[in-house]
Amino acid sequence: RQFTDYELSEDIVRALHSLGYEKPTDVQNEVIPIALQEKDLTVKSRTGSGKTAAFGIPICELVEWEENRPQALILTPTRELADQVKQDVTNIGRFKRIKAVALYGKQPFAKQKLELHQKCHVVVGTPGRVLDHIQKGTLDLERLKYLVIDEADEMLRMGFIEQVGAIIDELPTDRMTMLFSATLPADVEKLCHQYMKNPIDIEI
Ligand code: AMP
Repeated sequence: RQFTDYELSEDIVRALHSLGYEKPTDVQNEVIPIALQEKDLTVKSRTGSGKTAAFGIPICELVEWEENRPQALILTPTRELADQVKQDVTNIGRFKRIKAVALYGKQPFAKQKLELHQKCHVVVGTPGRVLDHIQKGTLDLERLKYLVIDEADEMLRMGFIEQVGAIIDELPTDRMTMLFSATLPADVEKLCHQYMKNPIDIEI
């Protein structure tokens, strides 16, 4: 399989080549075609499998550049991962000029508020700070169509599941949800069934 086998625009394919990604990894091969059809997914795969690009590529493809308000929200358990995911999305979306913003604690709220006020297609953040922005009215979720829960088992382990649930309750129900996890403990399965529409299960 090649990236050109998928329904990806030239801007995205060109970015993948410039990143040195010659062909899709196994998880990308499974996820990209289904995600491009905007179907809900649960993916059991670990770090190092290319999972970030597995959701980053379809998200960069699907967001509309003309829309100024956030269309995708990616939740991560840690700040480091939020930064990494933001960087990956920015790289994959660079020829499409996709704007990603990272939201996490220990960083000035006001600076993040300003960034959210400018053009922003993709928001990547940890649950606490994302919820903080939602409650203060600085994160506009009206146009949100794509949600990714990354490392769901870590979210659970770190005690973030309730916050994740509170965030999802604020999102439009007409959206695609993708959940990534190295393991699928019962509480994560519960989250899937509670918040997803007939998800397709992928295991790598
Ligand atoms: P991840 O599992 O998302 O942490 O990705 C692991 C590493 O694989 C990262 O350094 C990515 O930049 C890299 N990577 C992701 N997709 C590909 C690909 N299709 N070809 C080569 N490297 C990739």
